[in-house]
Amino acid sequence: MDRNVLVREGYMKGAEGRLLRKKTNGIIHIRKGITPEGRRRFTIAHELGHWELHGNYSQFLCDAQDMRDYGRSPLEVEANHFAAELLMPASHFRAACEKIEPSMGLIESLSAEFETTLTATAIRFADTTQRKVVVIWYEGGIIRWSYTNPKRGVPFVVAGKKPPEFSSATLPLEDVDNGMALYDDADWFPELNWGKEGVQEETKRMPKLNAGLTLLWLP
Ligand SMILES: [Zn+2]
Repeated sequence: MDRNVLVREGYMKGAEGRLLRKKTNGIIHIRKGITPEGRRRFTIAHELGHWELHGNYSQFLCDAQDMRDYGRSPLEVEANHFAAELLMPASHFRAACEKIEPSMGLIESLSAEFETTLTATAIRFADTTQRKVVVIWYEGGIIRWSYTNPKRGVPFVVAGKKPPEFSSATLPLEDVDNGMALYDDADWFPELNWGKEGVQEETKRMPKLNAGLTLLWLP
């Protein structure tokens, strides 16, 4: 309301959120029934991001894929970064994640604490921590995007390829360790001939989406 935007929840098909802009007023529609609460909050914050950042557009219609897009559409990526900054303010978030070693358990507990999505929390963590962390999203057996803080000097994991064999993302579940672990033969950076040794990783598999989120921690 303070930003001249009204948030409404209601029936919506094929989309999670929509922003309509008419001059200085906006309406954000959110699909009724988005769960968990963190996803609902992230959707509202994402649409607010479009409102604040993309004044030249009168309408956005965003689906679940847009909410975890960190590589495809620049406008969606910007809205996601805006939402992450809004829901996980730097001062609070830094204090919460500084002294603990990276792991998916940590990302999950931070996402519960800040009531936002797992993906956004992982990205925010990679941005905030002083450690070298890479976040990877794969879907349908293909890496869709990877994210790392450019200041940490860590190479990107190239999108468009399969995750490596013998990794936490690809091994049969019974062969995957709990928590962060070293997978000797997992090579996430084949064309660089780098990083093969000493990369810790953990993957949160999402069978419903035929997808997964992988966290890499480099020494
Ligand atoms: Zn969007």
